[in-house]
Amino acid sequence: MIRPILKFGDQILHDAAKPVDGITPDIDRLVDDMIETMYAAPGIGLAAPQVGIPLRLFVVDLSVGRDPKGLIVMINPEFVERDGMQLEEEGCLSVPGFNATVVRPGRAVIKGLDRAGDPQQIEGTGLLARAFQHEMDHLDGTVFVDRLRGIKREMIVRRIRKLSRAGKW
Ligand SMILES: [Zn+2]
Repeated sequence: MIRPILKFGDQILHDAAKPVDGITPDIDRLVDDMIETMYAAPGIGLAAPQVGIPLRLFVVDLSVGRDPKGLIVMINPEFVERDGMQLEEEGCLSVPGFNATVVRPGRAVIKGLDRAGDPQQIEGTGLLARAFQHEMDHLDGTVFVDRLRGIKREMIVRRIRKLSRAGKW
């Protein structure tokens, strides 16, 4: 089932999420729905808070469903290592229509559970490291806009407020 994606300004997106207690049928259904929602958007990553569920869980697929091995489901993820730096344009399904250059690590290793509840550790470089950091941020209530400084952040927030007031957000 495709679930509605919350937009910047919805409180759930700005609060830290809680750990997943166990792989229950509800969690299994949530994972299926998140994958379907991510592919339909389409997007390369989606965190549970974006569909209104404040739990530490995200899905990433750089191939957007074209490569069956491309799908990563991460439950209760933690960083193991982060190093290097990259500067690239970034967007978010919760901030449609806006992009900005965000500083991210060049490499990120994360560990957590897969959807069967088994431990996994995955190393990401380039776009995958960026996606990991972006989704981990969602679990801590941080949207990429919050990573911007000064006038760039102000401009985006102001335009979102304006769209909100006009009922177009
Ligand atoms: Zn996002």
